Amino acid sequence: MIKINKFAINLIVITALFLQVAQCSKINFDIYHTTDEINLLLQQLEGNCEGYSLNLANNDPDIYEVTLSSLDSENALKGLVIFGEHPRELISPETGLNFVKSLCGQSQFGDYELTQKIRDYYDLKLVINANPNSRRLVEDGDYCKRENPNFVDINRNWGSHWEHIQDEERQVNSGEAPFSEVETQVLKKIATEFSPNVFISIHSGTLGLYTPYAYTNQKAERNEKHMINIVNDIQKKYCKNCSVGAAGKEVGYLCPGTCLDYIYETLEADYSFAFEIYSNENEIHQALEGSNFLQIRSSNQRLRHTFKRNEQFRPQSCFLQAKYLFLKSILSAIYLNNSKTRNQKSDSFSDMFLDSYQQCFLFFNPESHDDYDYVIDNWTKALYETLNHVTDNKTL
Ligand SMILES: [Zn+2]
Repeated sequence: MIKINKFAINLIVITALFLQVAQCSKINFDIYHTTDEINLLLQQLEGNCEGYSLNLANNDPDIYEVTLSSLDSENALKGLVIFGEHPRELISPETGLNFVKSLCGQSQFGDYELTQKIRDYYDLKLVINANPNSRRLVEDGDYCKRENPNFVDINRNWGSHWEHIQDEERQVNSGEAPFSEVETQVLKKIATEFSPNVFISIHSGTLGLYTPYAYTNQKAERNEKHMINIVNDIQKKYCKNCSVGAAGKEVGYLCPGTCLDYIYETLEADYSFAFEIYSNENEIHQALEGSNFLQIRSSNQRLRHTFKRNEQFRPQSCFLQAKYLFLKSILSAIYLNNSKTRNQKSDSFSDMFLDSYQQCFLFFNPESHDDYDYVIDNWTKALYETLNHVTDNKTL
């Protein structure tokens, strides 16, 4: 009987998986839009949508600011929604694009009943693609890019309890000073001049509906009850698996320097939210529980230990977006337990094995047309509903 070398079997399994992964590693641009396409579509709405105007708020990076003026009310509420701070979360600007098209009556997705009400009662400002130069890098295949081109996380660069953080592994670099980055300077200017009543920041990588604060585990000091009532209702109707509550408390770690806190605390918005709108957690768990992974895992005590430990520490939010590191650590553990290759660097192995499309694109974004449509439709409706709730709480 031939004695099969265990290491050889593992290597064959891993190589087969790697080849499988490598075969399908491109964004489907029949579904997703490039930054230039997003800009073009926003330009095409000019003259085709009542109350719509587009302003190039900054040249390089080319950040556009959409204005949708109230069609009725003289005392309109002001709503600001920012999409795409983290470029690898492509589905965020895609949702923003659908949201604005829907508000202009040019999308099959959304909520027809609420559209008119929102258009009547709100002056809206939207930044559909807040980090365009880095999004272009993602479109070109740098699927894990989270920061701006200067390697700064622009959602750690706001001047609200800003701290100097440099964590390469998690791609969290808060910059040299608050508002050191062009992207945050532009967003700050838009937000400050507009001074919104309601602010929402859209992310992906997990499912959550968060309120201030993110820098501390304390609850918001103003209007907390109203904000929590709103996110509870949104959870019931649109995101049953969403975690809900104050970001610093729910996420499990503190995030200084975010737009969520700055716009709530410094600009005194009545309502400030961060929504995490997509997670492929189920798929990842299926992958981990799949037969190939199980074969490797069950033969390996150390790996089992790593798996268990990581289960307990599964990060809960894209504020740090470290959940994909969990999968990476599993693969590194497999690798480290192979004595013949132990002297090589674990990260390069897992990076090679699990290419960035698998590691990041599929982690932060839906892949199929149906899933994409579901996400943009569901969250366009959820945004309508959120804004509508605020009008219910306010005497107009
Ligand atoms: Zn994010």
